[in-house]
Amino acid sequence: MAVDAPTSVLELREVLGSAARSGQTVRVAATGHSFSDIVCTDSRMLRLEALDRIVEVDREAMTATVEAGIRLFTLNDELGRRGLALSNLGDIDQQTLAGALSTGTHGTAVRFGPIASAVIGLELVTASGEVITCSASEEPEIFACARVGLGALGVITKVTLQCEPAFRMHTIEEPFAFDEALTDWPATIAEHDHVDAYWFPHSDVITVKRSNRTDRPIRVKSRYKQWRDDVLIGNYAFGALAAYGRRRPSQVPAVARRVASGMGRVEKVDVSYRVFCTPRLIRFVEMEYALPRAEMAATLRRIRELIETERLQVDFPVEIRALPADDIPMSMAHGRETAFLAVHVSTGTPYERYFRGVEAIMDEVAGRPHWGKMHYQTAETLAPRYTEWDRFQAVRATLDPHGRFRNAYTDRVLGPIG
Ligand SMILES: Cc1cc2nc3c(=O)[nH]c(=O)nc-3n(C[C@H](O)[C@H](O)[C@H](O)COP(=O)(O)OP(=O)(O)OC[C@H]3O[C@@H](n4cnc5c(N)ncnc54)[C@H](O)[C@@H]3O)c2cc1C
Repeated sequence: MAVDAPTSVLELREVLGSAARSGQTVRVAATGHSFSDIVCTDSRMLRLEALDRIVEVDREAMTATVEAGIRLFTLNDELGRRGLALSNLGDIDQQTLAGALSTGTHGTAVRFGPIASAVIGLELVTASGEVITCSASEEPEIFACARVGLGALGVITKVTLQCEPAFRMHTIEEPFAFDEALTDWPATIAEHDHVDAYWFPHSDVITVKRSNRTDRPIRVKSRYKQWRDDVLIGNYAFGALAAYGRRRPSQVPAVARRVASGMGRVEKVDVSYRVFCTPRLIRFVEMEYALPRAEMAATLRRIRELIETERLQVDFPVEIRALPADDIPMSMAHGRETAFLAVHVSTGTPYERYFRGVEAIMDEVAGRPHWGKMHYQTAETLAPRYTEWDRFQAVRATLDPHGRFRNAYTDRVLGPIG
């Protein structure tokens, strides 16, 4: 495998030209935060770390044009310094912008879509080396599809984002009983800007984190309290459970119940991106599915039943999020009001029986797997779940007729070109 790290669009075009002459395929690898084999290749790998600058910010229009290899934590800081922010983010900030876009990375809200929904313009270098700029009014077909492109349409080099004025958020996270949290969920997500919930398998506890834009001043906590709320609870409690569970798997349910019963109320006011994103220190594997929002509660109950009847030792919570319907063909929330259910286990814990069991449940509700997380679907099973599948495939065939950007993952989930 060869690794190239172009520092300009010109160098990138040279790499693509050389790959074409030698008949090699190319994959862009960003920070490798995907759990699937979406970036893997034994041919030619591209790294775009050098393309990480802020190109232009228009404060009046609240737009920012940035190079695509920028890491989200840098982007958040740079936007903040200029009085701007992204409206919605996932729960970490380590990824590159292009990596996050290409997998449909999302946060949680019923009014704010995935990160890709903030994109209003893109620059893409195609397999032939052509540099295409696109937006809703320029090359609209390419723009529609390339916002979530799985790295299969070309190399994204520049992105223009619609931002909003920098904001603070007030967040409260507290535990509820399983049935109560599920019954209240439709009202909770309607009433709050961002709602993220975690059910602790083997227990009756769901913690619900509700975050809203606020004018309140930032609450300065002691360093210990900040560490306790952001790091200790979300990481070490699970780390200890995971380590214990690997030595004594049969004890996982009892210990998980103890961890869940220890969850208390956490309140915080901070700048938006420090509320959205928190450190994740414990390694885990994850599968996440997007499903019709109305099916969320029944589907989570089925996952609970699966864990109980199969006596699965699950040492990590199930995360529950929501997104509005969007118009991006390969976005997991395309065309339907969406809920997300994400299942995890700590790295080293057997996951296949759990994940396959959950996937079978998701198949019954036309679930769409997160492109950057583990799943066992194929193009055959996925095509009927995306109403604009053919539209995406037509753009793919035009931009990459010889499959320069394919790998084993795209062969499996997108199928052949044309
Ligand atoms: C701890 C953790 C927490 C996470 N939290 C969330 C979350 O809250 N919400 C969520 O939705 N996901 C989440 N994810 C998943 C993660 O956001 C995605 O897998 C994301 O793609 C990773 O970004 P990356 O920069 O590492 O990209 P990679 O994993 O390296 O690449 C992902 C894809 O992007 C393509 N790509 C990268 N750069 C370019 C480019 N310049 N042009 C074209 N294609 C490109 C690659 O080819 C590949 O197809 C999480 C993952 C981890 C490990």
